[in-house]
Amino acid sequence: MPIRVLPPEVAAKIAAGEVVERPASVVKELVENSIDAGAKEIKIEVRQGGKRLVRVIDDGMGIPADEVELAFARYSTSKLATVDDLSHISTLGFRGEALASIAAVAQVTLVTRTADEPMGTLIRLEGSKVIRRAKTGSPRGTVVTVENLFYNVPARLKFLRSTVTEGKHISRLVTRYAMAYPELRFSLLSEGRIAFRSTGSGDLYDVLIEVYGLEVAKQMLRVASAEGSGTAGQAKISVHGYVSIPSLHRANRDHLTFFVNRRWVQDRMLAYAVEEAYHTLLPKGRHPVVVLNIEVDPTLVDVNVHPTKREVRFLQSEAVFAAVQKAVRHTLIEGAPIPTISPFRVLPVERLERREKLRGRRLSRVEMALEVQRPAEERPIPRMEGKLPPLRVLGQIAQTYIIAEGPDGMYLIDQHAAHERILYERLLAAQRQKGPISQTLLEPLTVELPFQREITEEDLNALAELGFKVEPFGGQTYLVRAVPAMLKRGDISAALGEVLGSLGTNREEWREKALISIACHSAVRAGQALTEEEMKELVRQLEKTEIPRTCPHGRPTLLRLTKAQLEREFGRR
Ligand code: ADP
Ligand code: MG
Repeated sequence: MPIRVLPPEVAAKIAAGEVVERPASVVKELVENSIDAGAKEIKIEVRQGGKRLVRVIDDGMGIPADEVELAFARYSTSKLATVDDLSHISTLGFRGEALASIAAVAQVTLVTRTADEPMGTLIRLEGSKVIRRAKTGSPRGTVVTVENLFYNVPARLKFLRSTVTEGKHISRLVTRYAMAYPELRFSLLSEGRIAFRSTGSGDLYDVLIEVYGLEVAKQMLRVASAEGSGTAGQAKISVHGYVSIPSLHRANRDHLTFFVNRRWVQDRMLAYAVEEAYHTLLPKGRHPVVVLNIEVDPTLVDVNVHPTKREVRFLQSEAVFAAVQKAVRHTLIEGAPIPTISPFRVLPVERLERREKLRGRRLSRVEMALEVQRPAEERPIPRMEGKLPPLRVLGQIAQTYIIAEGPDGMYLIDQHAAHERILYERLLAAQRQKGPISQTLLEPLTVELPFQREITEEDLNALAELGFKVEPFGGQTYLVRAVPAMLKRGDISAALGEVLGSLGTNREEWREKALISIACHSAVRAGQALTEEEMKELVRQLEKTEIPRTCPHGRPTLLRLTKAQLEREFGRR
């Protein structure tokens, strides 16, 4: 085929594909336009997951009658005029492509009126062509209705998913904007039913309750921090939002939500910064629930990386990374509560029956749910100032748990997990200073290492840095001459096996894992009787750790049963 210039309709449809991938992309572009137009209330309506219809209604500034056609022209925008403006974008839109793209691949009707016009304007386009224009009565603001997306692009239509799937994409998107703009009132009407609504109170916490429910919201900690002076080349970076306490976690990263200057972004670096902050606090393979807005000087972010603006580039990405990591870490260490034992969870039936008797009728499902939640609600989790309260050791249970009294009740301490935390922090400190204190064994130990690959000179050096002096002794057998001092009485071959087993991954990560293994195999075991002195010493040292409430694997080191819970259980209150 000879080269030829594509007819404009074909070119327009191809270009539209970059912006409009699915119904949720239409919702995104329209909602962003409403936000940019200064709307206070944004109503979204969808049918068949947006495939049949998407409608966005706002009370924003509207479009003047004589600019309505222009709004649909490609690269026409009221939000920027020169290339220089690109460096300090403060609106969500600026590429002037959205309405043109949507109009190329759907049937679009727009009704709009500005404050100083007596009548509104209606315009309807099909496949980029204006087919109707009229004056009409309309409240101030804009209503855009998009019908039959991709009706004229069969290749794209084929790729749309089920109503349920497309609907899910839309509701996730709407909840994200609601979280980024808590001062705006959002509602999503899906297949004729209210699927989501935010109050516009201005408080992100209220939106969190709407999105995740009260139970989850109660387990979120507020993050608020500002870093940097904004002068002398140092960016001013502020981080605000909420992060889940370590005992609340999810199986995937879907609940990490980030906004940069209130624009939702997908950014691996930000996700990584958060995971770093939770390091050793969460069980393996679990992820937190996080909603964070990062404010940076707009001149230091490039939002024009992708047509959908989902990705951004930071000019000072290390500084952003550090600010996020630090803000989250700080919040977790300061505010994470000690998990409470909640006996009511175990016996809700009796409680519910008591309630029902009291009311003389059966409880509805909602009432039941509330009833089960009650104890937690009545008693807000007290914030512990990072450290543990003073604890008085009373004894040991099952040769595994230390029982202690604190100012507000009873504490159970997992002796192994607690000791692991103590030893791990000690190892970290030693590493930071001059390396570990290695202890030579009086008699070298021979170990058989069930290891798949050959152990190199380099591996042996890495081991030496941890305090292991190991020499090959032929075949799979090795001679251990020295070990990290704390491991002397621990399970040397188990620790060494684990340390070598995790070799091969990234060195930094490996060292971290190796330290955890050493701590784990040096710590007192479950099932080991401890004297009162030993228990007191353990608790005293736990109090001194930086993160006393979890072991380095992320399990809790202690549980609490409050005095109020005890009173309730014994029927004293
Ligand atoms: P962009 O948002 O990148 O400027 P769009 O194609 O989305 O490009 O919109 C084109 C223009 O139409 C906007 O710059 C704005 O002036 C106007 N516009 C679009 N939607 C609205 C709305 N809901 N209220 C007021 N003006 C709007
Ligand atoms: Mg736009």
